[in-house]
Amino acid sequence: MNELRELYQEVIFDHYRRPHNFGPLQSANRTAEGYNPLCGDKVKLYLQVEKGIIKDARFEGVGCAISTASASLMTESLKGKREAEALHLMHDFQRMVTGNAQGSALGKLEALAGVREFPQRVKCATLAWHTLQAALENRHGQEAVTTE
Ligand code: ZN
Repeated sequence: MNELRELYQEVIFDHYRRPHNFGPLQSANRTAEGYNPLCGDKVKLYLQVEKGIIKDARFEGVGCAISTASASLMTESLKGKREAEALHLMHDFQRMVTGNAQGSALGKLEALAGVREFPQRVKCATLAWHTLQAALENRHGQEAVTTE
């Protein structure tokens, strides 16, 4: 179990040092910004949604390792998903990091399961997902969310 945990931390730091899908997305038609005042994490999410399917997802922002890794892993997992599937994934992810998940099948996102042992970091992990929800619900212009 300890070995697994170290591996997961490695995944987190890997995504923190070299975030995937980092930078603006010119073709984005949904964007939202999120802010976690507890930690100072900021994320701006760009989505390209066509016929209800997330074709591309990118993000920008500054934040701690957990929030950056979460956004990086999230954008990876979103591509090709229907909007409803993405929201379903968000709920599964939230259940996982708040410790209520049983045998979740979240794939790479499970790297962040350890966050459940650090309740003060849960908002770091869920920031990108709250921002995703805002972006999907926002069909015109920009949306801003805060975890408070
Ligand atoms: Zn944070």
